[in-house]
Amino acid sequence: MKTLRSIYLDNNATTALAPVVLDAMLPYLSTEYANPSSASEAGAGVKKAVGEARVAVAKLLGASPAEIIFTSGATESNHTAILGALSLAKGKRHLITSQVEHPSVLLMCQQLERLGIDVSYLSVDESGRLDLAELRDVVRSDTALVSLMWANNETGVLFPVMEAAAIAHAAGALFHTDATQAVGKLIIDAKASGADFLSCSAHKINGPKGVGALFVRRGVNLPPLFHGHQERGRRGGTENVPAIAGFAAAARLLNNIEDESRCLMELRDRFEQGLLAFMPCAQIHGQEAERLPNTSNVGFVALDGEELLYRLEQAGIIAAVGAACAAGGQEPSHVLTAMGFSKTEVLSSLRFSFGRMNRSEDVDQVLRVLPGVLLGMMDKPHLTTDVPISCAH
Ligand code: PMP
Repeated sequence: MKTLRSIYLDNNATTALAPVVLDAMLPYLSTEYANPSSASEAGAGVKKAVGEARVAVAKLLGASPAEIIFTSGATESNHTAILGALSLAKGKRHLITSQVEHPSVLLMCQQLERLGIDVSYLSVDESGRLDLAELRDVVRSDTALVSLMWANNETGVLFPVMEAAAIAHAAGALFHTDATQAVGKLIIDAKASGADFLSCSAHKINGPKGVGALFVRRGVNLPPLFHGHQERGRRGGTENVPAIAGFAAAARLLNNIEDESRCLMELRDRFEQGLLAFMPCAQIHGQEAERLPNTSNVGFVALDGEELLYRLEQAGIIAAVGAACAAGGQEPSHVLTAMGFSKTEVLSSLRFSFGRMNRSEDVDQVLRVLPGVLLGMMDKPHLTTDVPISCAH
């Protein structure tokens, strides 16, 4: 495995495990292996750790511990919310989501369409913004659930979750938000957001992969996806205790989100200003919208994004084309496509996502390296010529 001492700017895909997180996990991977459901004293000790972890994660999300269900990650949280809401809202056969959701939501919705559920996909404008008027128009008396992400993983653009939840509720629908990218970067108050369900994942906040949480508002009796006694009957399966302990340690690290957010924004702004200084025609997607402090989605004017990504990695910089989950396939980003960009523009876009491990020197190094890499590509064939390459400097 290649473990370059690279500058890692792909934190929306996943983050490095924080050393204190690893320390918090190790006992549960070695000596503290009892099953938390076991009646033994050893089991009780582990159960207590899971309870403490629930308190830490609840605090991060602005929830009560009883409102937190541990899952295997945001994908499972999203699926539990969507399928659970449909079964709760008996007889209601309509879902609303947006065109720019994470594939874990979109692919589930497409599967439900094949099973006869009616799904409306809200559009976004050229800045990635949602139009609440469209939501008001499409919501109906048989809408079971409105599911809208808090922050987009590709562009960082934020959706007006509170307003959308109010519209859903006024129509008698439940509201779910995939807050996977927002958690840790913005102050999240699940209770105040109005959401009935909120999904998140530990590996986006320097925690381990394979663990996440679903907030279920008190009083909403969401049926489980996996049946069993664990998680008070709301999610069966022996708890992934090492990962849950790691999730909690990562949550505890985020004790000052305002500072966290400010540092991320400084890095992003330093990067964007530096980039625009030598490449004024670079397009920062979603720039006019409210967006996450850490995400910069850049259009490099008809240059081949895959090639640029490769060349940057050779130069010690790790970024992303589209989202990690979509990158395996050759499909151009559905998010940028929904924002109205041409295929050429989409395929020339890269995402730089900053994290708490990044420093301003990383940004300076990227800004030193990038012009040379871009210049090296200028004599290569471009994707197409439907966008003029007017700034080869
Ligand atoms: N939703 C969003 C917005 C995400 O960015 C991700 C991770 N790429 C997921 C859901 C899926 O999270 P997980 O990997 O924990 O299943």
